[in-house]
Amino acid sequence: MISSVRGTKDILPEEMPIWYFIEKTLQEVSSLFGFKEIRLPIFEKTEVFQRSIGEATDVVRKEMYTFVDRGGDSITLRPELTASVVRAVIQHNLLSESPLLRLWYYGPLFRYERPQKGRLRQFHQYGAEIIGSSHPEADVEILLLANSIIKKLGISEYTLLINSLGNLKSRLKYREILVSYLKQHSNELSVESRERLGKNPLRVLDSKDPNDLEIIQNSPLIYDFLDEESKEHYNNTKMMLKEYGISFKEYPYLVRGLDYYSHTVFEFQSSFLGSQDAFGGGGRYNELFTQFSQKNDIPSIGFALGIERIVLILESQGIEFKQENPKVFVAYNDSKFIPKVLEIAQKLREFGISTIFDLQRRSLKAQLKDANKKGVSYTIIIGEEEINNQTISIKNMQDGNQFTIEIRKGIEFLINELK
Ligand code: AMP
Repeated sequence: MISSVRGTKDILPEEMPIWYFIEKTLQEVSSLFGFKEIRLPIFEKTEVFQRSIGEATDVVRKEMYTFVDRGGDSITLRPELTASVVRAVIQHNLLSESPLLRLWYYGPLFRYERPQKGRLRQFHQYGAEIIGSSHPEADVEILLLANSIIKKLGISEYTLLINSLGNLKSRLKYREILVSYLKQHSNELSVESRERLGKNPLRVLDSKDPNDLEIIQNSPLIYDFLDEESKEHYNNTKMMLKEYGISFKEYPYLVRGLDYYSHTVFEFQSSFLGSQDAFGGGGRYNELFTQFSQKNDIPSIGFALGIERIVLILESQGIEFKQENPKVFVAYNDSKFIPKVLEIAQKLREFGISTIFDLQRRSLKAQLKDANKKGVSYTIIIGEEEINNQTISIKNMQDGNQFTIEIRKGIEFLINELK
């Protein structure tokens, strides 16, 4: 047997109703906020991600699916979508049509991570971006959108953590202070944190190692190193969030896995998830456009939600999603009636009634058993007598009642009953 690749997941038909529900909710709430969908390629030139996500990040160093294609180009399966969105916005000059863009995306991403519950190598994200506003109301709008989606999905308990990474100047200053503090404790840090200290020191704050946590708890706080502009943005954002009734918790050690973030960063956590407790996150990326050789900064903010983790949360909340069954099964007792069966099935489908019939020429008894198993509301039976009299027999699968009726009238009856 050939099985699927480690870290990938087949989504089987019985799991689809929850996915449809999530996808429909994402579409509806995005439109409600005036966001438009953008669909981008699954793979990009490697440099799209290398430059933007940051050479020293885990994603770029260890997690990208990168290969040289037959033409000799280095290609990467997208590990996230914000970089691709920025690439597309520049390539198609979208900002010349409108100086402010509200975009959303949905699709699979690929990261070579160690698979565990809620962590896959192919997973799905929904994300939204506001491109072209530096104002705190854009931060609030993005969080309102995220919050509305989460609520509409029925996620009842979650925590929104926020922090500010400030502008580049503040961040660099803080980085220096943090490095000198962490260096004093480098002997006590975990191997991973020591490695991060050299390459990407802010990420040490992300460590889950208990020893590291003790050191982190006493480390200098970024807030104390934010300049006036950064402080003002953060304070205004928090004030507006409170005004709009969005509850949040400030977490001064929240840094994100990708390098391009500035100012507001945030994460959504759920206690239903275990160790991989974040089901979404995002932040501002005011300086990302300049990394794509754009001259001016285009202040922007976005977030992404992990769909597999949302599925896990909804399942553990015990919310059930029922599969839509076909409504009608057309059964026959002789394969010579198949043309009639097809004609009737097609007629019903034209009126929007989902209809199936047996494709294996099984006995009538087997067909009726199958109709029952499929959970249809009505079964039509076509036998010798029905054919001779231009009728059909209709069986109500709920109460077992059966009657014979002229074909046209029978179809009308079903349309009335099932529409
Ligand atoms: P990130 O792009 O890393 O900020 O991730 C945003 C969200 O995507 C996370 O909060 C998760 O819900 C989800 N996510 C990230 N990595 C994975 C993964 N390997 N498997 C499943 N979901 C993931």
